Amino acid sequence: MKTKSNISVSEPPSKKQRRNWNEGLLEAFENPDLKVFEDNEVVAIKDMYPKAMFHYLICSKENIPSVKFIKVEHLSLLKHMHEVAESIGKKYEGVEFITGYHSVPSMVRLHLHVISTDFDSPHLKTKKHWNSFNTDFFISDSELIKELEENENLSLKSESEFVSLLKKDLKCHKCEYNPKHMPDLKYHLKTHVKN
Ligand code: AMP
Ligand code: ZN
Repeated sequence: MKTKSNISVSEPPSKKQRRNWNEGLLEAFENPDLKVFEDNEVVAIKDMYPKAMFHYLICSKENIPSVKFIKVEHLSLLKHMHEVAESIGKKYEGVEFITGYHSVPSMVRLHLHVISTDFDSPHLKTKKHWNSFNTDFFISDSELIKELEENENLSLKSESEFVSLLKKDLKCHKCEYNPKHMPDLKYHLKTHVKN
């Protein structure tokens, strides 16, 4: 018997196999192991490679590729995505979450990260991973909503400016400590865990 992962070279690729790697979130929409919520506007999934103890993605059903394509007419969708994120976060009493978008995402389809601030995960491996959540590369969705409400458009930095933030020296998000490297950061993060 053939399993799903048993890809035969003699068969034409299925719709799933034809999808590009950066469309993986669209596949996750159909995966009951990852999907935690769905309504007319969004699908909420577990991040397949969580960078903290709790990490979800609230994805828009409307085909908006990324934050760069957000317009004032998306304001109610963004607010709805925020509400869904909050409702997921509330399930974990006492756990602190941040919510926001990667300014230059790797995966298509607008997705709001909902991530706990422990950053305790074996998938958090690189400086790029850390800086993508702990510098201005990570755009707070509340601030985005506020800016759209006030100015009716977004003034984002250039893509190269955002990407350069990923190279910043490591800095702890809870104190002034500057870790020398990722193992140092990961060891240091344990000091902020409440017992
Ligand atoms: P980004 O595009 O940088 O905002 O982040 C994309 C997120 O999607 C990352 O946190 C990945 O761990 C996650 N991811 C990548 N592939 C999948 C997948 N197939 N299903 C669910 N999450 C994924
Ligand atoms: Zn610290």
